[in-house]
Amino acid sequence: MRLTKKKIDDVVVRILGEEGLSLVSQLKEKENISEFDLAKKIKKDIKIVRKMLYVLYNYNLVGFHRKKDKEKGWYIYYWKLLPEHIKFEHQKWKKELLNRLQERLETECKELFFICPSRCTRLTFDQALELEFHCSECGSLLGQDENEPKIREIRKKIGEIQEELRSEMEEEKKEGRSRMERKAGKKKAKSIKPAKKKMPKGKKIIKKALARSPKVASRK
Ligand SMILES: [Zn+2]
Repeated sequence: MRLTKKKIDDVVVRILGEEGLSLVSQLKEKENISEFDLAKKIKKDIKIVRKMLYVLYNYNLVGFHRKKDKEKGWYIYYWKLLPEHIKFEHQKWKKELLNRLQERLETECKELFFICPSRCTRLTFDQALELEFHCSECGSLLGQDENEPKIREIRKKIGEIQEELRSEMEEEKKEGRSRMERKAGKKKAKSIKPAKKKMPKGKKIIKKALARSPKVASRK
């Protein structure tokens, strides 16, 4: 799966909100950037920057190493994004979304829904029955909600996500395969070497055999 800018941003927004975007765009630009440089670049207080970094760190989306500042005697932390983990997080979220949508679809298909004409509330049959089919907000009579369009919409969304996940898995398989092929290629190259060494021996035997055979020798 290619880790596009959009995928990174999606993950970050879900975790830090829009506020995290400027921080992450700096991390994308430069690997191992100090938190002081980050704060300066995005014009935010160092404490806020640290807080955001620690949140991302808890999700395993960034890594750091620290160096001691010889003059000041304290440690400076240098941060970088961990793309593999961001990919993983993105896929995890997508699978969770898919599960939620599938559950929702099931509910929409098996339940009858009732809705207030002023859209204050939407209730299941049992809930509506309890209120004698009147809206708890405005008292209007509830009507049955035609949820066919909703069901179609959910089905469409599920199809899209399934397709995305499938193509991402395909891509990963391909990546894995080409990695394995590269490895196998290296092994092959190694195994060819001893065979090459044997070749001269073989040639010598053939030469000897040729020398011994007067017929072949005469044909030469
Ligand atoms: Zn109402």
